[in-house]
Amino acid sequence: MHEKSAQKSTREYNQYKRDPKVNAFYKSSKWRKVRAVAIARDKGLCQRCLKQGILRHAQVVHHLVEVNVDWELRYDLNNLESVCHACHNREHNRRPPG
Ligand SMILES: [Zn+2]
Ligand SMILES: [Zn+2]
Repeated sequence: MHEKSAQKSTREYNQYKRDPKVNAFYKSSKWRKVRAVAIARDKGLCQRCLKQGILRHAQVVHHLVEVNVDWELRYDLNNLESVCHACHNREHNRRPPG
């Protein structure tokens, strides 16, 4: 069935994010503000490294629940964590694709 396979591939694509809605969200001024608040709350430090006693600048604000999983939590500070690139990559690579 053509329709079914088209739906499936759309969903898989969304799981890998970078769907237009998510792209627009990351570029929005509101996200930039919320992101800045999260980094300020976390004192600009990577929270994962901090737990291991390492002080490292946070470069990314990570969504604990991904925006594709729960769109409503995208601006929720409780869902945000400031992390460095290394910790962020580790967090995302942990989950097997798909
Ligand atoms: Zn880190
Ligand atoms: Zn992330």
